[in-house]
Amino acid sequence: MSTPLAYHHVSKTYPNSKSPAVRDVSLRVKKGLILTLVGESGSGKTTLLRLAAGLEAPDQGEVRIGEEIVASDSLWVPPEKRGIGLVFQDGALFPHLTVSQNICYGIKRWSNDDQSATVDRMLSMVGLSGFNERFPHELSGGERQRLAIARALAPEPKVVLLDEPFSNLDPSLRRSMRDEIRRILNKVEATAILVTHDTDDALAIGDRIAIFRDGEIEQIGTPAEIYGKPKNAYCAQLFGPANHVALNGEKPRWVRPENMVMQSQKERGMIEVQVEEVRDAGRHCEAVVRPLKKSSSQRWIVYCDKAEAGERAWIRL
Ligand code: ADP
Ligand code: MG
Repeated sequence: MSTPLAYHHVSKTYPNSKSPAVRDVSLRVKKGLILTLVGESGSGKTTLLRLAAGLEAPDQGEVRIGEEIVASDSLWVPPEKRGIGLVFQDGALFPHLTVSQNICYGIKRWSNDDQSATVDRMLSMVGLSGFNERFPHELSGGERQRLAIARALAPEPKVVLLDEPFSNLDPSLRRSMRDEIRRILNKVEATAILVTHDTDDALAIGDRIAIFRDGEIEQIGTPAEIYGKPKNAYCAQLFGPANHVALNGEKPRWVRPENMVMQSQKERGMIEVQVEEVRDAGRHCEAVVRPLKKSSSQRWIVYCDKAEAGERAWIRL
């Protein structure tokens, strides 16, 4: 089975820039799956999407959509022929066109009947039935974002690329929108890359997650792998507190605070620690503890009901 979207050793350096925005990236997105691309601002996420969309050309390497090479040394397929749906952070809707006209933009060559049937189907899917004649300024932020998705999906693209689609939404809307986007993409079995700098979004939406750093993929895996088995300190800490546990000559590993239990009585297999600091973090108390074994310059963060600085305690991993 062919891969809907694949990058093969793709690099891109912008003119007047010393370092590549994307360097030697190889990546495949499997059919019907959503890959979330997470990374700090400036790490090259948008550039990676633009390379697939045909809005930038790679200096090296090859981009494939389905069976077809769309960008390489010798080949260039223009954006409109790539069969890609794009959703940008601001929605990028046409302000002077109605909701229906916005959706029809990419399917103008279809018959009138097909266009209007598609508009109705798309609007129903994104929960905007009856909004046909409104203009973008007559919609809320969330509605505009859903319209942008409807417009991107109308031409039945093979691949959908979404660049920070939630960044202009407030937190409560963000949460419902991300569930909604996931549902919509799954429903049409779209193959998608969704870019975000928010690691909660990445975990909630992605079937797989790629951590992007300085133009390169640092780690790629399922949400459980990315969260539970980070490759290094950078990947670990991007997703919240993580404790580097290196004990008794065992292979060091990363353990999340919620996977550590602290108590005041010793039980078999527990590790003795000294509590160094306690702070009330609202949802729970957070304690910084130091394992008492000889090796220990380690400090771990654990969650607990109550603890006091200075006391001894016991930890189970
Ligand atoms: P991200 O989306 O992760 O924030 P970008 O892909 O937008 O990252 O940018 C990656 C790097 O390329 C940054 O250093 C940015 O300043 C640079 N860059 C992005 N677009 C251009 C451009 N059109 N011309 C020159 N440099 C650019
Ligand atoms: Mg960006």
